[in-house]
Amino acid sequence: GWGDNMKATISLIKGDGIGVAVSESAMFLAEKAMAKAGIPAPNIVEIAAGAGYFAETGHDIQPDGEAAAGAADAVFLGAIGLPKVRHKDGTEISPHLRLRDRYQLYAGVRPVKAYPNTPMPLADPRASKIDLVIIRESTEGLFYSAAVHGRSKVIDNAVCDETLRITRATSEKLHDFAFRVATKRKDKGHKGQVTCVDKANVFTSMAFFRQIFDDVGANYPDIGKAYNYVDAAALDLIRSPWSADVMVMENMFGDILSDLAGGLVGGMGMAACGEIGDQIGLFQPAHGSAPDIMGLDKANPLAAILSAGLMLDYLAEKLDLPAYEDAAMILDAAIETGFSLNRLRPMEFGGDMGTKAITLTLSSLMDGKLR
Ligand code: ATP
Repeated sequence: GWGDNMKATISLIKGDGIGVAVSESAMFLAEKAMAKAGIPAPNIVEIAAGAGYFAETGHDIQPDGEAAAGAADAVFLGAIGLPKVRHKDGTEISPHLRLRDRYQLYAGVRPVKAYPNTPMPLADPRASKIDLVIIRESTEGLFYSAAVHGRSKVIDNAVCDETLRITRATSEKLHDFAFRVATKRKDKGHKGQVTCVDKANVFTSMAFFRQIFDDVGANYPDIGKAYNYVDAAALDLIRSPWSADVMVMENMFGDILSDLAGGLVGGMGMAACGEIGDQIGLFQPAHGSAPDIMGLDKANPLAAILSAGLMLDYLAEKLDLPAYEDAAMILDAAIETGFSLNRLRPMEFGGDMGTKAITLTLSSLMDGKLR
């Protein structure tokens, strides 16, 4: 029937450590928001992967797990990795990096938003207005040279060259993605501006990146275009982060600035992340498995829950079903209200609430039971 056409399939990789608890919390609340938006419960296909799975089986993901992940409408991941479980060469267990590679998840999305009653490292009261999105290219840039690819060598123990690669194909898709995010945000009352963060004054690759930004931006006459060199962007993120809207940049710059920006609005437990390609999107909290607090009901599930909100927005566009956007707004509203009323007090911020209490409180807020 009509309802079945709205049903999404979600690949769920709970992974290791707190990844299990926070992904269960996020999926529970996402499903609840979907139900409130009139969407049938998703078909959730669990995929076993991670360091724990590796320790048991010698494989970092279940047989056919990579293909199964990509066959869904979206992938949700808790966290992967345990410090004591490693490959023989000492590297960490990271099947999710292969997913990024295999599905070319080029658009890394990191929303950075301040919520009331959470720690604010900046003293300026305008810091409570921080609400920006960093879009980090995630398949090329300087990470083209990442050691795992084996593309650069130390020569004669004297010199090492790395390669920063910018391609037109990926940059066009990346910038287009950034302009679409800005368009959607503008509809919700944001400025409607994309800032291209680069180093176009020094590097040919960056001038190329900026040229493609201009080419793509011409298709978005209603969205403002701004430019910032990466060093100035770092300064501006400290000096006036409340004036930023959408920022798009190369992989390494995004790696650095997204952590800086995340630090402006509380802790790891609030950092949501989406990684989106042409075929599939993968959503996960930006934090790791935090083995020091696993199994203690202390983890802040909000990064995972906010990531689930990104996933609902993604599904709205992918499946062309606005009801999923309604679900995302229901989830966001509960979080916003919860913090405003000081009903969300994560232990991570010195509060009294663990994973379960935060989950149940958000559930009650969605039911309109807490005011
Ligand atoms: P990875 O390398 O996998 O990203 P990491 O070792 O850098 O992981 P995380 O696991 O992200 O680090 O976390 C570092 C510390 O931050 C944790 O040990 C934990 O104390 C704290 N932390 C991280 N995420 C959360 C969370 N969701 N709630 C509460 N505390 C957290």
